[in-house]
Amino acid sequence: MISGLQKMTLLDYPGKVACTVFLQGCNYRCPFCHNTDLLPHGQEAYMTEEAFLDFLKGKQGLLDAVCVSGGEPTLSPELPRLLEEIKALGFLTKLDTNGSNPRLLRQLVEKGLVDYVAMDVKNSPRKYAETVGLPRMDLSATEQSLRYLIEGNVPYELRTTLVCPLHEGQDMQELGQWLASLVPGKKPAVLYLQSFVDRDTVAFSGLSAPQEAELEAYCDILSPYVENVTIRSK
Ligand code: SF4
Repeated sequence: MISGLQKMTLLDYPGKVACTVFLQGCNYRCPFCHNTDLLPHGQEAYMTEEAFLDFLKGKQGLLDAVCVSGGEPTLSPELPRLLEEIKALGFLTKLDTNGSNPRLLRQLVEKGLVDYVAMDVKNSPRKYAETVGLPRMDLSATEQSLRYLIEGNVPYELRTTLVCPLHEGQDMQELGQWLASLVPGKKPAVLYLQSFVDRDTVAFSGLSAPQEAELEAYCDILSPYVENVTIRSK
């Protein structure tokens, strides 16, 4: 179900003019989530798929790409068909995912329905469950998605939103070691570090962004483990 549409963005798909469509529902409850209204199922749709596809037909030649975000879009049964429709209109597609559905991720890439993937990597394995707001977590699905991306099956980026007090230097060390261990002999290509930004839509109080110096220190800690670690500005 479509819960939102950003009609144009220069930031979401690298080097492309895109729009971003948001699908309802998420299986995580990250305390720093900006899209809390997108998390529960059973909301009213922002627009129908038909209306969205009509919008896209009017943007052929004006937009290069469509980013499909959420929530967690792989939870939406309509995702494969929606991507097929978007591709049929000639747009590049980007999928934002938390990596919890590696099987569908692989299927979508193998069918040529996704051109670029942005996967959130939330924290070190030790603090993953806490960071996604779940009492416990089996990381095997996350690891399968990470391996698939790191193997180089599709252009991708990994990204971590850094939040005080959830992330500390020790987590960066453990996160780097974990990422570098997933595919023997191959480091992840790119990891963006982005600072938490507090907004009215964030459900939890008491969270804040790390200082600039902390961000740079985190970047230094992760650099040996990832080909390219970049701080992404707000
Ligand atoms: S995975 Fe993304 S959409 Fe889901 S709760 Fe976390 S930040 Fe929000």
